[in-house]
Amino acid sequence: MDGFPMEVTEAVCLGASLALSGICYYIYRKSRTTLDKLDDAPHFNIDGKLKDILKVTPGACLQYAVIEGAVQPAGEALTSHFQKEFVGVLQKFLLREHRLVWNSLSRTWTDSERVLHHRVNAVPFVLVGSNETTVRVLCPLQASGLYMETTHEKFHQVNYGLGDIIGQYLSGEKLKGQLETEEMLKVGTTLTGVGELILEMDGTLNLRPPSNGSQYFLSNTDFDTLVGEQVSTALRWKALAIASALAGAAVLLWVGRRYYYHLKVGWEREQERREFERLQNEGQRARASGPGPETPQDGEEEHIENACVICLSQPRNCILLDCGHVCCCYSCYQAFPHRRCPICRQSITRVLPLYHV
Ligand SMILES: [Zn+2]
Ligand SMILES: [Zn+2]
Repeated sequence: MDGFPMEVTEAVCLGASLALSGICYYIYRKSRTTLDKLDDAPHFNIDGKLKDILKVTPGACLQYAVIEGAVQPAGEALTSHFQKEFVGVLQKFLLREHRLVWNSLSRTWTDSERVLHHRVNAVPFVLVGSNETTVRVLCPLQASGLYMETTHEKFHQVNYGLGDIIGQYLSGEKLKGQLETEEMLKVGTTLTGVGELILEMDGTLNLRPPSNGSQYFLSNTDFDTLVGEQVSTALRWKALAIASALAGAAVLLWVGRRYYYHLKVGWEREQERREFERLQNEGQRARASGPGPETPQDGEEEHIENACVICLSQPRNCILLDCGHVCCCYSCYQAFPHRRCPICRQSITRVLPLYHV
């Protein structure tokens, strides 16, 4: 790409879209791998047979298995701070502050959020199947999937006086209020768990994050809905990867098109130069074979009188068409950034050599 600069914005757009496409494709491939593993994972009922199966499994461990059971606390349950009838085994309390901030670029108020307080309470719990068989769920907070239920949500709005409102317009920041939420994994929820299933030495069954790096899931929906959610997530990443790759291709096409026009202008100039030299040589030959006495004796005076308006050192030796101005030498004409006459700004369609006879 000799002499062809790629603009900074083009390079940035190309780099950003290719990088984004790569990241989205990587996440898509990861989601596909997770989906394949979910498809291959065996399903088990939580009952007396599960222990027998694990006893005959090497290491008393199933690396990736799907189970479903009702949530029961292993000890004392947690009670909701806001509704006393709700009891659960996991509790997340979140207090977020909402503000409106003036954006001087878009000239609008935009919402901004800040976490003021975040607290998580957990008690050990099990999934209960038939025959009172239980599986203890370890590290539930490491699991992906929706398994919490909102048990409380309240927005505390801020009321202002006139003075506050004026102050907000001057500072460019308005406090809207605080959102208080509580989420719980309630006792009795039917939970689908996908993870590593292990029979401990003391005879307890445990579900824990897989040691082979597979994704750990807990969900209050059934297995098919969980897989469906994963499929749509994978498809979203695939669509994003394709869209960013297409954006990158569009930038490349744009640069390619510019490069083509750059080359085309170069070829046209070269052709024009050859044509000009050919006409100039023909003219010189005709002058040499013409009647001798009429050949003008180009003195120093004429050179200065007819000097090119740009370089002031060469004689004016070309006619710019269609305007017909004779104002510059051919080497200055070639250096014009645009094909426009420097005198009248009209566009130049052709250039012819000028001879004095
Ligand atoms: Zn010149
Ligand atoms: Zn002109």
